[in-house]
Amino acid sequence: MISTVFLPVPGTNGLPKEQEKVVKIVEDTFMKMQDPTGTVAASRSHIVSGHSAKPKNKPDDPVKVRCPCGNSNPNNSMIKRVDPQCNVWQHVGCVIVPENEKPVDSISPDLPSCFYCEICRISRADPFWVTVNNVLLPVLVGPSPIAADGSYTVQYTAKSFQLSRANREMLQDAEYNVQVWCILLNDKVPFRMHWPLNSDMQVNGIHVRVVNRQPTQKLGANGRDDGKPLKDYLREGLNKIALSRNDSRTFCLGIRIAKRRSLEQVLNLVPKEQDGEKFDDALARVRRCVGGGTETNNAGSDSDIEVVADSVSVNLRCPMTALRIQIAGRFKPCAHMGCFDLEAFIQINQRSRKWQCPICLKNLWRT
Ligand SMILES: [Zn+2]
Ligand SMILES: [Zn+2]
Ligand SMILES: [Zn+2]
Repeated sequence: MISTVFLPVPGTNGLPKEQEKVVKIVEDTFMKMQDPTGTVAASRSHIVSGHSAKPKNKPDDPVKVRCPCGNSNPNNSMIKRVDPQCNVWQHVGCVIVPENEKPVDSISPDLPSCFYCEICRISRADPFWVTVNNVLLPVLVGPSPIAADGSYTVQYTAKSFQLSRANREMLQDAEYNVQVWCILLNDKVPFRMHWPLNSDMQVNGIHVRVVNRQPTQKLGANGRDDGKPLKDYLREGLNKIALSRNDSRTFCLGIRIAKRRSLEQVLNLVPKEQDGEKFDDALARVRRCVGGGTETNNAGSDSDIEVVADSVSVNLRCPMTALRIQIAGRFKPCAHMGCFDLEAFIQINQRSRKWQCPICLKNLWRT
């Protein structure tokens, strides 16, 4: 049976009595949504991942350049990512892909308003892996040159990196692995791994398959590549890695030591209800959802034909599992009232790595 809750629509002039009624009903709804053990439900889901192990940089820290081109000198066109915990600057010319490589639906030729460096992007791609150490800092994997007949020629990138004795010892623990990752620099889905077409990797002379899809098939918007665990191919001291590919786009590759997070640890990254949305904000959002709080935005619309709902139903079953929601989760930017079961969501995304709202299907990346 599907459980629904009916909310009266508050009047456009917001009578206090109506407000009180809504408050009461929303409170009751949350009470009902709490799990049987009495744990407070997380009413919103804003998943924060890795990259926060280091303390915040002080504002007077000197400019630190870490660019996948390998040059650590600043030039006159630098960009810094939006995350205040990362103080790294990069050369615009290296990390912002030129016009002709921009996705067709990109409207602005300006710098992105929301820029993340490669390490930030990887740390947000999969909260089940947390970066412990970057054994090979991100390097550019440039486009394959176009031959006279229009085909691309195979391009080859070789790098070496050190694995210390301490690294090796750390890797005895099954929770740790060495992971080689790759991202497409101007990916429309920024927080995912993405390997070039026809990727072929050799690690210390051994062929390693890094991509599960067909080598000539592009990764779609809903697809996710994965990092490749390398522990079994590596030795203490110097290791060599080579990637050949046949792709006209610019990628970025890195190698990190990463530690596995358990389902419970990932669940604990989600802010608890008391640290989440304030009650007044939640109420305002619910009012907007049911159409009672938009009077100030209606100046340009035809208010005569405004549709006002008499009731709004909220499904208490999870859209993914069809079971009763135990802990209701929701992405902070979502405009809808529907929720999903938080634990089921995290469990499913452990494999799919999509981190996409199951209700509005938006890719709501962590910002
Ligand atoms: Zn650079
Ligand atoms: Zn960064
Ligand atoms: Zn949504």
